[in-house]
Amino acid sequence: MFVKERIFGHGKRVVVVAAEREKTLFLQKLNSNTTAHAYIVEGAEGIGKKEFALWCASALLCEGADKPCGVCPACKKIRDGFHPDVHLYGDDGKTVSIGDVRGLIHETGMVPVDGERMVFILCGAGKMQAPAQNALLKIFEEPPAGVVIFLLTDSMRSLLPTVRSRGQKIKLSGMSEEELLSELKRKYPKTPDGELREAAKAAGGSIGSAETFLRKDAERDREKAEEWIAAAFAGDKYRLVSLIATPKYKREQLLPLLDAFLRRLFDLLLTKSDVLPCRDEDTDVRASRHALAGMCEATVRCRESIENNGNITAVMTAFATELWHRAG
Ligand SMILES: [Zn+2]
Repeated sequence: MFVKERIFGHGKRVVVVAAEREKTLFLQKLNSNTTAHAYIVEGAEGIGKKEFALWCASALLCEGADKPCGVCPACKKIRDGFHPDVHLYGDDGKTVSIGDVRGLIHETGMVPVDGERMVFILCGAGKMQAPAQNALLKIFEEPPAGVVIFLLTDSMRSLLPTVRSRGQKIKLSGMSEEELLSELKRKYPKTPDGELREAAKAAGGSIGSAETFLRKDAERDREKAEEWIAAAFAGDKYRLVSLIATPKYKREQLLPLLDAFLRRLFDLLLTKSDVLPCRDEDTDVRASRHALAGMCEATVRCRESIENNGNITAVMTAFATELWHRAG
């Protein structure tokens, strides 16, 4: 059975990483004082390599008894992203350069500020150019006492063989579908279950991929909502019915789509009431506030019927007709 655990994210992002086995192994080494000085963490993009490395940093620097305790000053500083002895490189998506590596080498020569250790985490290490990787070699092979370096990479093969051979390897595999789903539910409580389930299924164990999948879905819904609005105000009943009532939507697809439509109507309503600034494309929508308010109401009712297991085709056909009337 997987034990779920909230671990430390960096900055605002808090991610659950299902790396129980790897964490247990790391703690065993820590407890027996046999941790390595150089690690290579490999795993698919978005799987939580950085979060895992930060978790290890917490375990290494924690001042509590049950490491990482999550509540001591060191753990809290790491969680909040400003521990002076935890150095992140390439965290902003930029490739770690040879200049960065020189800076890193300089910093490893300093004395830790808070404790006895310093942790250096290099995100996207596989994207580093060969000269930068080469510059790293010596320090990676034999860092100064108390320095622990983590190289994070999507694929071990993108590292030079010389670098690869000098670090202890940790391979992170994905989260189970169930774990992903429960994490998505926690992060997106308002997104319908069916949508989250689809994202969890398509994500191949990666929370990052699941989120990308969700964003794509949301983008598609916004586009569709825009089409519905255009058809409604063009007075094109046939097009409206064919857009809204003809496609064979599933219930779990319809709910987020109706939400997107409602949000767009609401934005238009606020624009017309001078609460929101007018976007260029809004000027094309010749809708009265009365019409928009009526369409909002109709959408809320339609959403309720869908949620209460109403017959989809019947509900959506009535909805399309009502929208056409209301847009008038
Ligand atoms: Zn702690």
